[in-house]
Amino acid sequence: MSFSEQIKQIKWDTVKASIYNKTANDVAVALSKTKRDLEDFKALISPAAQPYLEQMAQLSNQLTQKRFGKTIQMYIPMYLSNECQNICTYCGFSLNVDITRKTLTDAEIITEAKIIKNLGYDHILLVTGEANKTVGVDYFVNAIRLLKPFFAHIAIEVQPLDQEEYETLIDEGINTVLVYQETYKKDAYKKHHPKGKKSNFEYRLKTHDRLGKAGIYKMGLGVLFGLEDWRVDTYFCASHLSYLEKTYWKSKYSISFPRLRPCAGGIELKSVMSDKELVQLICAYRIFNEEVELSISTRESERFRDHIIKLGITSASADSKTDPGGYANPNTNLEQFEIDDTRPTKTFIEVIKNQGYDPVFKDWDSSLQ
Ligand code: SF4
Repeated sequence: MSFSEQIKQIKWDTVKASIYNKTANDVAVALSKTKRDLEDFKALISPAAQPYLEQMAQLSNQLTQKRFGKTIQMYIPMYLSNECQNICTYCGFSLNVDITRKTLTDAEIITEAKIIKNLGYDHILLVTGEANKTVGVDYFVNAIRLLKPFFAHIAIEVQPLDQEEYETLIDEGINTVLVYQETYKKDAYKKHHPKGKKSNFEYRLKTHDRLGKAGIYKMGLGVLFGLEDWRVDTYFCASHLSYLEKTYWKSKYSISFPRLRPCAGGIELKSVMSDKELVQLICAYRIFNEEVELSISTRESERFRDHIIKLGITSASADSKTDPGGYANPNTNLEQFEIDDTRPTKTFIEVIKNQGYDPVFKDWDSSLQ
């Protein structure tokens, strides 16, 4: 049964009650096991696990080092376009937000690539809004061809595509695709995505199936924290991950942890996730799943990012610009959201090294096979 069928049988309120009713004993049992299931994951993300945070952090650190060593894979986003045909209530690129729209030309893509390459990066994440007409598959193919000579690993975070379109991009050289469901609660999803192709909850939910069938090397999942109860949404995301790992076992997986940031046209958050809760969640994911890669972006503060290096994270960005062309010509009026950690790459890698970890810029995936 596909995950989009499975999810219809899982009631949001039942999951919520189950998570919030977990006890200290459930948490202790989950921590004592060597193989954990989704019920254990519920216990680890529950309020009952909060007194166990220190123990969870130590275990998460051990498990991460066993699988990934003391390394942090470094990547950097390149925003190619802020054109978007969707209305999303929380995003600075939303169609109804009055900002200047910009899509990079070939020359601008090359200029950005050279600046990023000079910072030392070999892994790039290409980001766009969702505007099929101006930034569709042909645009991506052209961008990948321009960028392939510069970077060993190309990831994209763009609109969900059809299987055949993913196959085309994989043939061109993309390695990773990130698509976040934002929220797994269908009525909340509809509320926050009232217009455009993104309002189709089912199509987005089936995206990772299309990626798996297309044979993608790595795919990323996540929810946007702030739209709904983070614990319940995360349970659905972890269930989705478990389904995908069993069904498309040749692909690798990553989880990201975007918390809503202030932006043009921003909304009031339904639930605010504290730093402590985000630490709990990162540790819970690692204890639940020893293989999944866990990624942290510059949305988070310097203090939080410095603290989290030892707690289960495997990849991190730095020096990010969220406006198209932002490395050559920063323009905060074009940004998707404000970043919090604005430190240069060299400063952040010193922080990583000072904690006894190696920031890795090249060929990390192949060394971990
Ligand atoms: S979240 Fe994505 S789809 Fe929604 S408005 Fe922003 S760029 Fe467009």
